[in-house]
Amino acid sequence: MQIQSMFFKKRASEKLDDAILQGNMKRAKGKFVDGRAKAVAEFGVWEEVRTHAAKVRDRALANLDAYLVEFERNAVRRGAVVHWAEDAEEACAIIAGIAAKNGVRKVTKSKSMVSEEVNLNERLEAAGVQVVETDLGEYILQLAHEPPSHIVAPAVHKSKEQVAELFVRAHGKPRLTEIPAMTREAREALRDHFLTADMGISGSNFVIAETGTTLTVTNEGNADMVTTLPRIHVVITGIEKVIGTLEDFATLIRLLPRSAIGQSITNYLTLTTGVKMPGDTDGPEQMHIVLVDAGRTKLVGSDLQEMLRCIRCGACMNHCPVYQNVGGHAYGWVYPGPMGSILTPVYVGLENAGDLPNAATFCGECAVACPVKIPLPDLMRKLREQQFDRKLRPWSERMVIAAWGFTATRPALYALLSRIGARVARWMGGSEGLIHWLPGIDGWTKGRDMPAPSGRTFREMYRQKRSGASHGR
Ligand code: SF4
Repeated sequence: MQIQSMFFKKRASEKLDDAILQGNMKRAKGKFVDGRAKAVAEFGVWEEVRTHAAKVRDRALANLDAYLVEFERNAVRRGAVVHWAEDAEEACAIIAGIAAKNGVRKVTKSKSMVSEEVNLNERLEAAGVQVVETDLGEYILQLAHEPPSHIVAPAVHKSKEQVAELFVRAHGKPRLTEIPAMTREAREALRDHFLTADMGISGSNFVIAETGTTLTVTNEGNADMVTTLPRIHVVITGIEKVIGTLEDFATLIRLLPRSAIGQSITNYLTLTTGVKMPGDTDGPEQMHIVLVDAGRTKLVGSDLQEMLRCIRCGACMNHCPVYQNVGGHAYGWVYPGPMGSILTPVYVGLENAGDLPNAATFCGECAVACPVKIPLPDLMRKLREQQFDRKLRPWSERMVIAAWGFTATRPALYALLSRIGARVARWMGGSEGLIHWLPGIDGWTKGRDMPAPSGRTFREMYRQKRSGASHGR
């Protein structure tokens, strides 16, 4: 996927003016947020499991090297081939090489955000391989020639009517209006591809060190078809997905579907361990596992390491007021919302995605929703600090922040300037008590008025209250 994150502001403005998108996002928000809240309330031990899950992920990251080597050893023992890809180019070259060596003409894929990261489809298609996405959302987007706008529900920005239009054009059948009938039509179109593909490519939610197993969570069962029907199965995943044991997985899977879509369990769990063995009725003859770094090791040991705990549930974006309004495409790369506002600058360079850590109100909802307790606003703040230190923000903004820092560390000066500021703001509110325009932050006041303060600072009010209380004693 081409990086467009440097155009975030422009793209976000366009999305805000898109009435169809706004309607679709509003509908999705209700479903995700309410569904998760209900599932969490019913669970009863959410906080306890959440705390344990954060520890499970931290233990995996602390032992990343040892767990990855253990995973490789166990996967190889079961007949898989493990490949290590340092970057996107190497990952694509490995998979294109496997396809070329085995005369692969058609690939079926289940959803993989890492494959989006490395532009795998384009690379395979350029080599003459037909790639068919089989996750329903991804299939819809492949027909629309669009990238995903959400990591769990990639076509969340599309309405039923828009999908119906795409299906008429792609399938050449009468227009359907009911979702079950449309889903059936897509399944029929995909069935033939499942049966004729030479290679299946899946992502992996987790890879398990103690067994050499890769594990995929789906709601449609398409990963089962992709991993067992073709003669070759390729898994592409990030190195941070490794966990120690099946027991660790048992903890994480209690959180993932609840956080993602408000379900207590997922419909399908696809566990793949090695190749087809003598006596097995199905399974691939070859299994290749491509473990991708592409910037992940940069996070290990850094002050952003907690981001690697992420289990890709999407809850942070579902709860983010920015994402809820602009949708995923505005972010301009694979990972949208708060998690993308950290991962994108790290993976593609802060200079290419400078607006993303600033695309937050810091309401803190993302951190509250995150099932593995990633302090997302804190991490965004750290990226903002890096921007400031590397002089990546505009000169005027850096001057304002430097002036603020100077003032905030001198209490007498701060008290004087805040007294003046409070009175000026009161005066600007006029008789209505509303400020219609503020210099330097007119983007905020373009769409809303700010209530004018009382004209006195908090300190003045506090002092007055205390003296009133002492007189009343
Ligand atoms: S950062 Fe947390 S909430 Fe967001 S996708 Fe990752 S695990 Fe889910």
